[in-house]
Amino acid sequence: MDRKKFLTLSSLGLSSLPLFSFAASAGTKPIVISTWESGMGVNGAAWEVLSKPGGRALDAVEAGAVHIENEISCCVGLGGYPDRDGIVTLDACIMDEHANCGAVAGIEQIKHPISVARKVMEKTPHVILVGNGAQQFAIENGFPKEPAELSEDAKKAYAEWLKKSEYKPVINIENKKQNGPFAPNFFEDGSPNHDTMGLVAMDANNNLSGAVTTSGMAFKLHGRVGDSPIIGAGLFVDNEVGAATSSGLGEEVIRICGTHLVVEFMRQGYSPEAACKKACERIVNRDRAKAKTLQVGFVALNKKGEYGAYSIQSGFVFSVKSGKENRVYQSKFILKNDGTVK
Ligand code: ASP
Repeated sequence: MDRKKFLTLSSLGLSSLPLFSFAASAGTKPIVISTWESGMGVNGAAWEVLSKPGGRALDAVEAGAVHIENEISCCVGLGGYPDRDGIVTLDACIMDEHANCGAVAGIEQIKHPISVARKVMEKTPHVILVGNGAQQFAIENGFPKEPAELSEDAKKAYAEWLKKSEYKPVINIENKKQNGPFAPNFFEDGSPNHDTMGLVAMDANNNLSGAVTTSGMAFKLHGRVGDSPIIGAGLFVDNEVGAATSSGLGEEVIRICGTHLVVEFMRQGYSPEAACKKACERIVNRDRAKAKTLQVGFVALNKKGEYGAYSIQSGFVFSVKSGKENRVYQSKFILKNDGTVK
């Protein structure tokens, strides 16, 4: 999705979306849940797999991630915004119902990091490959090396960012004041900075899987890795309990092992929404002043096919596709736009 379309959808359309309430989540399978409104297309690609007899959640989440990696987006794939040195580096991970998992971090010039992550999972004894090693492994496994060119959109955004070269991964409260509480989370220079694609699915055989793919935070330090490719931070799947994924300021998610925490709360009996809320509270309660400046959102799916989400600030949305529905919901959130607790 290009940036203009992203902005239009995000600032004008989202406030009219239904606010998710747990009652909506009756529990069904197969089902796929993705972060953000771009999750609608992602879910569609995943559904092609899930709706076929024997369709496996693992194949579905990979297909969903491949779909968004093929789009030009600010925040996923080779068209994404670069780091502060002007280089696009991608992070991805995947996890299946047997706790098999694979990830790549900081990989360059490879179009489908999610499929490389799956190869790491299936063909090596390791979980994570990074940087040049990840790229070398990808090439050895038949993934073509793509040109290092930035997308037109990314070129413009990078040129704009270079004027000040300020590294400020904070949300712009003014943007929310001007464009309403559902305006997306922007850097102070106006560029969107959080839009990782994370998705979790359960297939007709009751098996869960998840995938995450991202270009990470725009204009990050070269070599920075966020939560997205870290199992237990950006993604966690426990086939007995449920699965969760995240988007937002990855450092904060890593600090609490966010998605592992969400799944453990579900193991204790919390609903997916309550589990996501408790993980957000863990971040907010540690440092309220800091929490006002950042966004984190979680989505979760349990073994009954119930799902939910929660975020720290307003503006986090997620997409759901099952035999019963195909829609985007706003997630509930903890902090009001003035930073006080709702
Ligand atoms: N979680 C991602 C990261 O920290 C950012 C995002 O959600 O867009 O890299």
